[in-house]
Amino acid sequence: MRFDLITIFPEFFVGPLDHGIVRRARENELTQINIQDLREFTKDKHRTVDDRPFGGGEGMVLKPEPLFEAVEKLLGRSVGDAAEPMARDANSAIVLMSASGHLFTQETARRYAHLDRLILICGRYEGVDERVAEYLADEEVSVGDYVLSGGEMPAALVIDAVTRLLPGALGNEASTQNESFSTLSGENSQGSSGERTSRRRSPYPGRQSLLDFPHYTRPAEYRGWKVPELLIGGNHAEVAKWRSQQSREKTRRNRPDLLPEND
Ligand code: SAH
Repeated sequence: MRFDLITIFPEFFVGPLDHGIVRRARENELTQINIQDLREFTKDKHRTVDDRPFGGGEGMVLKPEPLFEAVEKLLGRSVGDAAEPMARDANSAIVLMSASGHLFTQETARRYAHLDRLILICGRYEGVDERVAEYLADEEVSVGDYVLSGGEMPAALVIDAVTRLLPGALGNEASTQNESFSTLSGENSQGSSGERTSRRRSPYPGRQSLLDFPHYTRPAEYRGWKVPELLIGGNHAEVAKWRSQQSREKTRRNRPDLLPEND
């Protein structure tokens, strides 16, 4: 899978994408990450990427021309204009990072993991000329209900979440099936009764899921705090039942919004 990042801070990505699973996936050529400096698509000597907002107000807005041209260079073709808009490619997505986008969830990551290519546009300043969201990007995505100063961190986060879902990216394939946000949406992979899959769907599409169960490792007792006895016993059925209960309990406590109403 190929990721393209369009940014005014290319050096931002030196580091965040060079560790662990994301690094290994790059080294094994499971993924390719290309960083595109937006300023290469400016034509003035100051390499201006932003301008004042029409209608007044604070802050600067990223101009449409360099962004459209950057995407066109990456795609190797024109994206068209108002008279003749471009045809969309089903195997790739152009995504604008935006605090006012659709919420990025594990479901979104799973959908992206099926694509061949993801072009991520990182905004800065007050944001991006709306024509980019309307006519260039396929999707506008937010990583959470808070405002960051740029789209670089959100884009790195998307790459991480998608990469670890690619077949072969993790040492243990099962690990992406048993983790937070992965149950309820399909098969119940934790081996319990299947009751979770049959419950009513959450009001949040793509968020019918439970959080991960708690994990423990050695020592069995630390500063007087003990690992639950049952986990040490090694009765697989009991452990599976306990994990499923804990998963639900933790979701109720930390993220009741993930559970269907009246759960
Ligand atoms: N004026 C905008 C915020 C701009 S922040 C607003 O009120 O919504 C500058 C850039 O940071 C945005 O263009 C976007 O690319 C990025 N950004 C900020 N918060 C984000 C979030 N929660 N998710 C994704 N991108 C975000």
